[in-house]
Amino acid sequence: MMNMTEKTVLVTGGLGYIGSHTVVELLVAGYQVIVVDNLSNSERFIFDRIIKIAQKEPVFYQDDVCDLAAMSNIFKKHQVDVVIHFAAFKSVGESVEKPLLYYQNNLISLLNILQLVQENSVEGLVFSSSATVYGEPDVLPATEETPFIKALSAYGSTKQMGEEIIEMVTSSGVFKAISLRYFNPVGAHETALIGELPKGIPNNLFPYVTQTAKGKLAMLTVFGDDYNTVDGTCVRDYIHVVDLAKAHLAACRRIINQECQSASEVYNIGTGNGTTVLEIIKQFEATTDKLLPYKIGARRPGDAEAVYADSSKAEKELLWKATLNLKDMIQSSWAWENTL
Ligand code: NAD
Ligand code: UDP
Repeated sequence: MMNMTEKTVLVTGGLGYIGSHTVVELLVAGYQVIVVDNLSNSERFIFDRIIKIAQKEPVFYQDDVCDLAAMSNIFKKHQVDVVIHFAAFKSVGESVEKPLLYYQNNLISLLNILQLVQENSVEGLVFSSSATVYGEPDVLPATEETPFIKALSAYGSTKQMGEEIIEMVTSSGVFKAISLRYFNPVGAHETALIGELPKGIPNNLFPYVTQTAKGKLAMLTVFGDDYNTVDGTCVRDYIHVVDLAKAHLAACRRIINQECQSASEVYNIGTGNGTTVLEIIKQFEATTDKLLPYKIGARRPGDAEAVYADSSKAEKELLWKATLNLKDMIQSSWAWENTL
């Protein structure tokens, strides 16, 4: 086992939702951490909150990962062992409106990172992929062998292309890459000091639920109750963001300990449990004692009926498994909402 305290991890998008929780876990585990974030979808105060939780300070650069010169300077100043690349735009709807913006930000940032990892003898890269690469899987749960379905949005397309680019570049290169396909990340840190900061009216279910219960929004609309599921509403695999953060540490360890079996690996990161929208609503009300006003509406175009993960590969090879349950996810999101 290597001594992790000597290892430096550069985290792009490290002030974002998943990035900030991962930076906390890395610091607590003893890694040196460098955060690069241009604050396009995050706030500076998250940096102070990270320090407050971890009682350690990462190095911070407010830079755009698409700016190759700025990024080169950072790699000149620090010997980086592993890069975790979170920085990307992530709104499916916005990507349909502004596809070019998504290709530019998500792919140019990735190409820059790959070049710098290759030029600077970095041991490996951990890439944020998504269950969206599966589209609507024919067979459930989705395994890593489940084929990609042609993406319906530029966002999904950047994740599919991202994985393909990584596979090609690592096959002739000297570094390793692990792509983690996240299912539905929700929840917040147990301290309620960091969590998701959606801008404007949220698109995702959890922030919509907590903001409605808080009275910021009038009513939740359930997008369709005529799906072929137990109660007619869509099924998703919700995963606590702290469990997800820990999956990144498992991936870093695998790279640093030189345990990767191939140059480019992929892992599903979910709980394996499928939960319907109505089940979320009931569990939210039971956990928080708040009444959640909701109505049944039309299906949302592009929504898959059911998506949940087979994460047994991650359990076997990354030695990672989700430990937090739906109640933990709801309690922590609600506690976080109450600080906003
Ligand atoms: P987020 O928007 O909260 O975090 C992304 C961070 O990256 C933000 O702090 C933003 O300011 C920064 N950023 C964006 N472009 C940048 C650039 N060019 N240079 C520097 N910083 C930049 O998103 P998140 O939910 O934490 O997602 C992190 C990653 O995980 C993304 O790649 C996203 O696509 C992926 N992902 C997210 C989800 C989800 O539901 N949240 C699901 C699957 C995959
Ligand atoms: N959903 C809903 N009402 C909302 C937001 C989401 O019914 O206001 C449903 C949506 O149809 C999906 C699930 O909740 O079945 C999760 O949606 P989210 O946008 O959070 O994640 P994704 O679609 O990416 O799985």
